[in-house]
Amino acid sequence: MRATIIHGAGDIRVETVPDPQLRAPTDAVVRVVRACICGSDLWPYWSMPASEQGERIGHEFLGVVEDLGSEVSGLAKGDLVVAPFVWADNTCEFCQEGLQTSCRHGGMWGRNGVDGGQGEAVRVPQAQGTLVKLPVAEDSALLSSLLSLSDVFPTGYHCAHTAGVNPRTTVTVIGDGAVGLSAVLSAKRLGAERIILMGHHKDRTDLGLEFGATDIVAERSEQGVEKVRELTGGDGTHRVLECVGLREAIETAFDVVRDGGVVSRVGAPQYPEVPMGFGVFMRNVTLTGGVAPARAYIDELLPDVLEGEIQPGRVFDRTVGLDEVSDGYRAMADRSALKVLVRP
Ligand SMILES: [Zn+2]
Repeated sequence: MRATIIHGAGDIRVETVPDPQLRAPTDAVVRVVRACICGSDLWPYWSMPASEQGERIGHEFLGVVEDLGSEVSGLAKGDLVVAPFVWADNTCEFCQEGLQTSCRHGGMWGRNGVDGGQGEAVRVPQAQGTLVKLPVAEDSALLSSLLSLSDVFPTGYHCAHTAGVNPRTTVTVIGDGAVGLSAVLSAKRLGAERIILMGHHKDRTDLGLEFGATDIVAERSEQGVEKVRELTGGDGTHRVLECVGLREAIETAFDVVRDGGVVSRVGAPQYPEVPMGFGVFMRNVTLTGGVAPARAYIDELLPDVLEGEIQPGRVFDRTVGLDEVSDGYRAMADRSALKVLVRP
């Protein structure tokens, strides 16, 4: 089969690799119907040292079960399934606490001999715990939104959920990427009535308005902070959802959060330390967030997607075939695409 391999910064190739086969009775093999490129795939795309061997990449996919190990129950060949961005048994004590990202028997796609998601097929370890059956056909119009359950939408939802967004809280979302827009949609779903979106790409913030944002702040850094304070009587908002991962963004988050408020971060941090010193201490600000246990949220979010109540898949604004996946990375890196869908 063919799969995407990253050989270093800017070097994405599609190569022929061995067909996936069952190795353990808890495995499944899934033929990929839709995959996509994540903002977090861009970090190695920008910085990975050159490697002859390269690494499999991609961690968001949905597809059809082609083969099943003898110990996998609840799934059948031919089922359409979505995979969260980490695999997990969904039974250990961490999984039972809704923290499948800390599963004792789980792991990451594309590591330690496990396939990446940007390919024609994937061997899925711990298939029973990992895969979620989707009650639609593989040509369903809902596929984009269902694929978003793999990572981007639950990540935005995790940000809003851990922040404790509710109808009584005002919210600032930092970042108009696909995760930031998913956080807007999530804050709206959790009842927030005032959602300020900080972002400066107009086509993206326009989608943010459709997802529920009430105010857009296009200014950056200090001017952006001033604008949010101006909009909130000088105090900032109760909750701040940081969806970027850069130091400037986390600094802005502490500057626009109201005293006693909560900053939640889901942007993979590209800074070594959180600037959370005496000033933040004196204002009683809480920091939360982290990697999203997508599997924990899929059961909750899936019905709304199936009923068309929410359309998180609107963050996809370009589709490429597997052979054009390198163009997809380039488009996301130069910001000409918001989020790229891959059809193997
Ligand atoms: Zn587990």
